[in-house]
Amino acid sequence: MEIYNTVQTLQQRLYQLSRAGEKIGFVPTMGALHEGHLTLILDAMEENDTVVCSIFVNPTQFNDPNDLIKYPRPIEKDIQMLQSVGCQILFLPEVEEIYPKDLVEPEFDLNGLDLPMEGAKRPGHFKGVVRVVYRLLDIVKPDSLYLGQKDFQQYSIIAQMLRQMNSRIRLVRVPIVREIDGLAMSSRNVRLSENGRELAPILYKVLQELEYYVNSQPFPIPKNALALAQELFHKHGIENIDYFEIVDGNTLKELHSFEDSNFAVVCAVIIIDGVRLLDNVILFEK
Ligand code: AMP
Repeated sequence: MEIYNTVQTLQQRLYQLSRAGEKIGFVPTMGALHEGHLTLILDAMEENDTVVCSIFVNPTQFNDPNDLIKYPRPIEKDIQMLQSVGCQILFLPEVEEIYPKDLVEPEFDLNGLDLPMEGAKRPGHFKGVVRVVYRLLDIVKPDSLYLGQKDFQQYSIIAQMLRQMNSRIRLVRVPIVREIDGLAMSSRNVRLSENGRELAPILYKVLQELEYYVNSQPFPIPKNALALAQELFHKHGIENIDYFEIVDGNTLKELHSFEDSNFAVVCAVIIIDGVRLLDNVILFEK
């Protein structure tokens, strides 16, 4: 695997590849890779000639400085994992490469998609995400960009950014990769205690119950679905629910009736051992 630390050396290489007519797939990450990330890489490899993965723990998207400090950075293991699936290029920049002093950055109208859920709980987070993804896309100039459904709101916001840019980059939404017990894979899961790890799969179980309720009832109502979820969390001793919302998958606005939407998603964060566990399930997409 080729590893580049600077924009200049990476771009020299990418220029050669694009002159040779190669299709470039891009997978941005913050490292501490797991099978979820590798699935994005494998999907990108299937659809492109060359895959670029970036590992950059983006300081501008952390609203909690402690979270940034504690973010795992097992770079040697990450490199091995990328090599094991045959990823061709790793971009591993320092902060100064991504945010040089003279950088000019555009503003985007995110159409309110950055306001609910993660946006409300983590002020400034999506501003940082948009900054880094815009910058990375400007550097890599890929044909296709691969993002995980795991971060559904992030996916929606980047889709909106690409629309605003009139970008020709193809955006691919990759389904959530889970542990055997259903817990969505996440770099933060390693911070769970043994007990916390045992409790964590409840989140997906509740989301699945909700999916079942919505698709099996003749007239499901979002309010009742949320009450059901609340009851299930309570039964399992989970009280720290950061948010739990049923939203329209395009606008991210809360749904009061399932008839108002042809794309309903339930998005949730619960907190166990101080770790925010993020997950979602698409209830229906017509
Ligand atoms: P991160 O390193 O957490 O910023 O994630 C990098 C990319 O991997 C993002 O597009 C995430 O949505 C995606 N991702 C993270 N966890 C998973 C997972 N369990 N399944 C699928 N994609 C994931």
